[in-house]
Amino acid sequence: MIKKNNRIFNNLYGFESPYLKYASKRGDWKDTKKILKNKPSYLIDIVTKSGLRGRGGAGFSTGMKWSFMPKDGNKQHYLVINADEGEPGTCKDRDIIRNEPHKLIEGCLLSAYAINASKCYIYIRGEFFNEAAILQKAIDEAYEAGFIGKNSCGSDFDFDLYLHYGSGAYVCGEETALIESLEGKKGQPRLKPPFPANVGLYGMPTTVNNVETIAVIPTILRKGSDWFSGMGTKNNSGSKIFCISGQVNKPCNVEEELGVPLKYLIQKYAGDVIGGWNNLLAVVPGGSSVPLLPKHVCEDVLMDFDSLKNSGSGLGTAGIIVINKQTNIVKFIARLSEFYKHESCGQCTPCREGTGWLMRMMDRIVHGNVSEDEIELLEEVTHQIEGHTICALGDAAAWPIQGLLKHFKNDILKSIEKKSKVA
Ligand code: SF4
Repeated sequence: MIKKNNRIFNNLYGFESPYLKYASKRGDWKDTKKILKNKPSYLIDIVTKSGLRGRGGAGFSTGMKWSFMPKDGNKQHYLVINADEGEPGTCKDRDIIRNEPHKLIEGCLLSAYAINASKCYIYIRGEFFNEAAILQKAIDEAYEAGFIGKNSCGSDFDFDLYLHYGSGAYVCGEETALIESLEGKKGQPRLKPPFPANVGLYGMPTTVNNVETIAVIPTILRKGSDWFSGMGTKNNSGSKIFCISGQVNKPCNVEEELGVPLKYLIQKYAGDVIGGWNNLLAVVPGGSSVPLLPKHVCEDVLMDFDSLKNSGSGLGTAGIIVINKQTNIVKFIARLSEFYKHESCGQCTPCREGTGWLMRMMDRIVHGNVSEDEIELLEEVTHQIEGHTICALGDAAAWPIQGLLKHFKNDILKSIEKKSKVA
């Protein structure tokens, strides 16, 4: 469990002002100039050794991602921050922006320096109107204080930071769709390769990172890689903001070490499942796009990338959605299918046609208007979508249904049998 003085986000709940005077008292912008005196490769090295894995869902090594950026040539490099947080069950990045914007801004400066990017865009979800206003004010404060802009923090590094509003398309959380949207085009994912590190924003080398990933960078650079890797479990180092929602008594965001037991998180911070732990049916542990876990797995599963993968799910964004026994779980998954159908950008056939097909089939299951054979067919179709699309939205549509059928197929089949007997 995390020690109080190891917490990175000390104003996550907004008890203090988000602005510069208070952010400085909390330790933001401390020794930034000193850090900028190091070579960019040194910063990349610290972040790689810290074991930080991207906090946006994929869990890829941040240091390694940065190391893919070209080291020579005179091309403009870009850092792009993904603040398009749209994963159902996930509400951490907006709290960072709302309450700790200077952590993000300082992180942008240091990360951009590490990858030799003199320009950074924060792509924020348009609906986060109030958060964007706070962030813009904090950016203005950082410019006025000389922390960013020409000779940022008194270093020789010139750095500009721009805030760009998106329009709320879920698929723009995918890095290449985000880049397309930033360029003023329709937000549709690109075929990869080429990857953004070679051909990104305006065709230039680009790194796209999540808000939380970048907001923890200044603290890692100040306290060192050993400090960060000393938290968490092997290959899953550091702390993470977990978002706990659904049928719990006290939905909340909380920073804890990776590898914390799921049961502990729900009971200690979220006031337990409504109706008590024994009333738990299942948990979706990583935002809506990962398979659910039934209660017996939730008893002792650890919340980190590898433990959840080994349990047949994923950490994703760490958006924990708790489902109790009073919930119609089929209806819950059907609602997600509707969401993915709505958000498909339509470029690839398995996703465009498949998500609509899944949605209609799930709706029929909700209404008990389906045969046993069709349940088998449904499962088969999810496998035909999974891994056969340009971006991960296809997988995201397939996995919740796969999780449902893996753990609750017998219940569904029993209800079909019961209905046919009554008829
Ligand atoms: Fe678009 Fe879906 Fe294909 Fe992604 S998987 S590119 S959202 S059609």
